[in-house]
Amino acid sequence: MRVFVFLVLLYANIFAYAALRKVQVIPMNLKKKIVAAAVAGTLAFGLGAYNANAAETERDSIAQVALLQSLAQGYFGGTITAGELLALGDTGIGTFEGLNGEMIVMDGKMYQALGDGRVIVTPDSTIIPYATVSFFDKDVALPLKNIKNKAEFEKALNETVEKNGKNSFYMVRLDAEFPSILFRSEYGSKPPYPTLVEALKGKQTEFTEKNIKGTLIGLYCPSYMGELNTPGWHFHFVSQDKKKGGHILELSLNKGTIYLDKSDKFTMIVPDDQKFHSFNLAKDMSADIKSAEHDTKGNMK
Ligand SMILES: [Zn+2]
Repeated sequence: MRVFVFLVLLYANIFAYAALRKVQVIPMNLKKKIVAAAVAGTLAFGLGAYNANAAETERDSIAQVALLQSLAQGYFGGTITAGELLALGDTGIGTFEGLNGEMIVMDGKMYQALGDGRVIVTPDSTIIPYATVSFFDKDVALPLKNIKNKAEFEKALNETVEKNGKNSFYMVRLDAEFPSILFRSEYGSKPPYPTLVEALKGKQTEFTEKNIKGTLIGLYCPSYMGELNTPGWHFHFVSQDKKKGGHILELSLNKGTIYLDKSDKFTMIVPDDQKFHSFNLAKDMSADIKSAEHDTKGNMK
């Protein structure tokens, strides 16, 4: 019993420490992580109120695989599977091995919007080189009306983020009918992988849809996230019938309520393979990243 109490206190301290650190980088493999989470879950079960806080802390964490810098330099492989990623969140966005399409995670399911415009349910064994997920809670509701374009959409969201704290993370979800929406996907590449910008050349496809029902999943990262993720907003879309989707370039909206899930904890899973360690991740890729994120003809057809 004494050993158990000691263990409990040890875990309690670990959680208290983790809660104090706003950003934590965990360079351990996911299997260990899942075992740690399972142990924590067992302890939380027996501990009632104290560890309920720890469970909440986990729910309020954003979990990210690798970093934008590694994706920009051509890290399109990886070690984490789709199934493992879904253990860390039920909502999110990302991409797949070989940059094979745009990821939309919602309601605990992962959808893959492919370059040819189809959407598939991602097999659990698919490798994920870059993604961000969270367990979604409706912390803030923002009713929206007469949104003419993405700039207006972001402006309304930015005002809400300013009120609620611009240096936190937000996952957002909007279920609505979009009068018009323009989104992009891309065909995958084969190894040896080029850089992100090279991989996107000639591989991108754009789709415009009118009066389409579906779900927008988005992520807001604070300005200090510079090379780890995209500061500001990043939105993906999947239609209600799960047949169309991609990375949103433009949109309009008559009416809808977007929900924001605020997170004050960030967990980064650092891949531990030879390829990942071969990159100089301090290299300035900002021009490439800007071009990859915003590369579009910019007009809805
Ligand atoms: Zn995207």
